[in-house]
Amino acid sequence: GKSEGRNVYRFFEPGMDALMRERRVLEVDLEAALSKREFELDFQPILDIGSGKIVGAEALMRWRSPSRGLVSPENFIPAAEETGLIVQLGDWALRKACNVVANWPRDMRMAVNVSAAQIKSGGFARSVIAALAFSGLPANRLELEITETVMMDESDAVLRTLSQLRGLGVRIALDDFGTGYSSLGYLRRFPVDKIKIDRSFIRDLDRRDTAAIVRTVIGLGAELGITVTAEGVETEAQLGMLRKAGCGEAQGYLIGVPSKASDMSRLLHSQALQ
Ligand code: C2E
Ligand code: CA
Ligand code: CA
Ligand code: CA
Repeated sequence: GKSEGRNVYRFFEPGMDALMRERRVLEVDLEAALSKREFELDFQPILDIGSGKIVGAEALMRWRSPSRGLVSPENFIPAAEETGLIVQLGDWALRKACNVVANWPRDMRMAVNVSAAQIKSGGFARSVIAALAFSGLPANRLELEITETVMMDESDAVLRTLSQLRGLGVRIALDDFGTGYSSLGYLRRFPVDKIKIDRSFIRDLDRRDTAAIVRTVIGLGAELGITVTAEGVETEAQLGMLRKAGCGEAQGYLIGVPSKASDMSRLLHSQALQ
């Protein structure tokens, strides 16, 4: 309509330059932040619903910028992907996460998010193998979380890399399941050990249609022998429904918020004594 046309027009006015300048400043700051060690990892616990035990954690990146404050990954990962910095940054996260979990009790698993640019960069399998070797972590305790954007392009090269890593025992999780265009297609084509149901579905679990979809995905996981993890579990009602539906694992504020390695370590040691 007419107002839409006006918006499009505005989009190409000087405001655009300001946005682009801002983006460029962000990118330059990000490069410097890596050498200044301004990045941190928080860890969010993952519950095995059946046993009631914490069985793993997901590493979530944070940027503690002196000028910007604590920056959410949603605001800096896209810029890091744009400049290619994500390759180094992701490599740092992988090594750090492996080192952390190698010092936790029992056979806790660690999940690390991986961007498409990392896998496409060529040396990804080598980086993973190095992180495992350096930390002494057994491959089957590392889980790589990938989204459909990873699988979308150059899927043959991606497929080879993921298959190679899986051959070593590394687990592959399909993140944000249900939000893309062809989740089911990727499930058939890629070697996957786990599905993580996107939190938008869990948020709407009180809707009959959404509950039916979630139960169906849980059933699908059971048929395929794939672990199903529900993301964004915030209430006892949601957890109860997921338990009844036979969901394997839960992650979300109800189980635990992302927290520092030392806090997670304390939680796990106290659980180990139970
Ligand atoms: P994600 O992989 O889907 O991670 C889950 C996000 O949901 C995290 O946001 C987490 O803090 C948040 N979350 C967990 N439980 C709940 C809950 O009960 N309710 C709500 N509302 N939110 C919950 P976060 O830490 O802001 O990370 C956002 C995204 O940034 C991640 O989404 C992931 O796509 C990306 N990301 C984070 N760390 C990394 C990383 O090291 N590498 C890459 N490539 N991406 C990362
Ligand atoms: Ca994730
Ligand atoms: Ca997710
Ligand atoms: Ca997400």
